[in-house]
Amino acid sequence: MKVTQGKINELLTQSGCEHNHKKDQKKNKSCTQVAQPGAAQGGCAFDGASIALVPVTDVAHLVHGPIACAGNSWGSRGSLTSGPTMFKMGFTTDISENDVIFGGDKRLYKAIKEVAQRYQPAAIFVYSTCVTALIGDDIDAVCKAASEKFEIPVIPVNSPGFVGSKNLGNRLGGEALLEYVVGTKEPPYTTPYDINLIGEYNIAGEMWPVIELFEKVGIRVLAKITGDARYEEICYAHRAKLNVMICSKALINMATKMKERYGIPYIEESFYGIADMNRCLRNVAAQLGDPALQERVEQLIADETAKLDIALAPYRERLKDKRMVLYTGGVKSWSVISAAQDLGMKVCATSTKKSTEEDKAKIKELLGEDGMTLEKGSPAELLNVIEKTRADLLVAGGRNQYTALKARIPFLDINQERHHPYAAYSGMVEMAKEIDEALYSPIWAQVREVAPWDR
Ligand code: SF4
Repeated sequence: MKVTQGKINELLTQSGCEHNHKKDQKKNKSCTQVAQPGAAQGGCAFDGASIALVPVTDVAHLVHGPIACAGNSWGSRGSLTSGPTMFKMGFTTDISENDVIFGGDKRLYKAIKEVAQRYQPAAIFVYSTCVTALIGDDIDAVCKAASEKFEIPVIPVNSPGFVGSKNLGNRLGGEALLEYVVGTKEPPYTTPYDINLIGEYNIAGEMWPVIELFEKVGIRVLAKITGDARYEEICYAHRAKLNVMICSKALINMATKMKERYGIPYIEESFYGIADMNRCLRNVAAQLGDPALQERVEQLIADETAKLDIALAPYRERLKDKRMVLYTGGVKSWSVISAAQDLGMKVCATSTKKSTEEDKAKIKELLGEDGMTLEKGSPAELLNVIEKTRADLLVAGGRNQYTALKARIPFLDINQERHHPYAAYSGMVEMAKEIDEALYSPIWAQVREVAPWDR
């Protein structure tokens, strides 16, 4: 798959994306403009493709580029596996100046050979990077030749960092799956209750309790794209009856193209918070269109929420009316609000930087008139908002923890690097426990005391 300007434009102007819904208005400019210098700060397109694909556990992920590209983000995300650990190994061709002058194709071929023969993975995903794309290495041709020679699927992922943002890279990763993986094998059997999860990366293992809930009512997750996935299950994904998208912007191209190609409808859901988890189960059951299944879902919701009320009662008492500032992206910018409100907390401000129009509408509805939305999240801006809102807690990505420390308030990591699962009903209890521990840690009383030399 070649990355042409046409392909990039197509991925940035997905009809399913809320940015492009309003036909009477111009398309969102930020979607289509050419990447500016510095656009890769916080994640380049290669980084985005690896975020989307590296969670496939039995695949060897080979980065064709200088060693720093692989080191850029390797292992920083907490996707967990229930079996193979091949995805945890970092492979790179580590190209040198010689390769830049004479081309890196041969080196890539040799690297694929070594990985295939030494580790026998289910497949090899080969990622292009800025340098190897600029010197014109034809990774498609090398992957094809190596695949035939070593009789193993070798999938080219054309996502050099310079083509654009992390989000575009996610979609390029999805394109590689669509072109080379989905629909290449038939599942041993199918059921009327087969679904795919798209855009769920099993951070801290939070997808497992969700799958358990689906299984309890008789829904089978045919393909997980891509958290804790096996290569083979993604090959079967075209036989699912429904695609459930978890992060709307990341892999929307997969959902829309699978609808076009295989007639699989898709819905967008969130697993955070009681209301969202309930809605997700109900919507999936409604889409699959079986009244008996819908009944089982209602029973499950009644049982789980009753159990949850008991488990959350002590936390609700301690967290009631505590004030939170939320700084995260995508669906989490609103789904975490509803989870916090389930605990009786007040979300004073949230970010809208990476939110779609639909996300923003949901935020508005949840926060009400008084809620603040943040377009930018520089440390100075966040400190200002924390002070203005008299927040008790900052919930954000790992890099913001020092901002919270400066403001002398507790911090909870909500992004990919976290080690605690917050999805599904069990995740609510985990989140309540983590917030409670952060808020009531005895350190804060000491940190906020006047320093001895200032007394
Ligand atoms: S692909 Fe390009 S932007 Fe991304 S880490 Fe490598 S050199 Fe940097």
